[in-house]
Amino acid sequence: RVVVAGSANMDLVGLAARLPLPGETVLGDEFVMTPGGKGANQAIAAVRAGAVCVMLGAIGSDAFGVTIKARLNASGVDTANLRTSYGASGVAVIMVDRAGENSIIVSPGANSSFAGLSAAETSAIAESDVLVCQLEIPVETVLAAAQAARAGGTRVILNAAPARELPPELLAAVDLLVVNEGEARAITGSPEPDVAGLLALVPRVVLTLGGAGSWYADRDGADERIPACAVEVADTTAAGDAFTGALAVAWGEGRDLVDAVRWANAAGAACVRKVGASNALPTRAEIDELYAR
Ligand code: ADP
Repeated sequence: RVVVAGSANMDLVGLAARLPLPGETVLGDEFVMTPGGKGANQAIAAVRAGAVCVMLGAIGSDAFGVTIKARLNASGVDTANLRTSYGASGVAVIMVDRAGENSIIVSPGANSSFAGLSAAETSAIAESDVLVCQLEIPVETVLAAAQAARAGGTRVILNAAPARELPPELLAAVDLLVVNEGEARAITGSPEPDVAGLLALVPRVVLTLGGAGSWYADRDGADERIPACAVEVADTTAAGDAFTGALAVAWGEGRDLVDAVRWANAAGAACVRKVGASNALPTRAEIDELYAR
């Protein structure tokens, strides 16, 4: 059982031949509206990968909130403790050109009102095997969730995205840190991703390396680079979410972390084969198939 405490957004995606310059309007191609946010994506990823998953977070009282919640429910995510805050839902306004380059504005909306964990939220965390958090909700809430997990014997995975510096109290409550190279640099302040530096802060680290796979290291001496699965890349959106969701599921099932990271690599690779975000998140069968190759 996995619990995700994180963001839920509506992604409004407009495609055009090229991105507009400041002050300019361009006529676009198609428009797609799809629920997203790293928290919601990772919750859906965990369900597809085979876990029972509870989502904690906040949607707004607008029409987007209704659609986001319906999508989570339809995906099999437990939303019984998802809050509805008066006001706007989180929205990402995304412009994409035909080369795949994008410009994005994320308005956090209700995500920024997710604060002060309730008794029900705290017990949902304590009753799970693994808590997964990202950094699209207030960092104080991430800290409170991680500390509730610690107190309840639940393992804590922090996917420290988007990149930022982290308070030491939060790092002290993390069991496994999942970061890409930019996020690693933001945490250690070093120009190159510094795994040894990260291990001074948290006991276990996974560095994701895109098409080069991932790197697992821990304080017990594990230090393994795990190559990516070779696949034809269609769209790398949500690869990190597929990876983190699957990693949480595998670790929650008691698999050792090197094996769990190998399986998560297969999930990331399965995701990049498809165009889209949450719709591209792989099922357990798809992950197993690539893992077995
Ligand atoms: P993020 O999107 O958070 O920056 P990455 O790009 O590092 O994350 O991707 C997460 C994981 O997805 C990688 O560790 C890898 O396992 C998988 N992945 C990403 N890109 C590819 C690719 N081109 N081919 C195969 N696997 C990939």
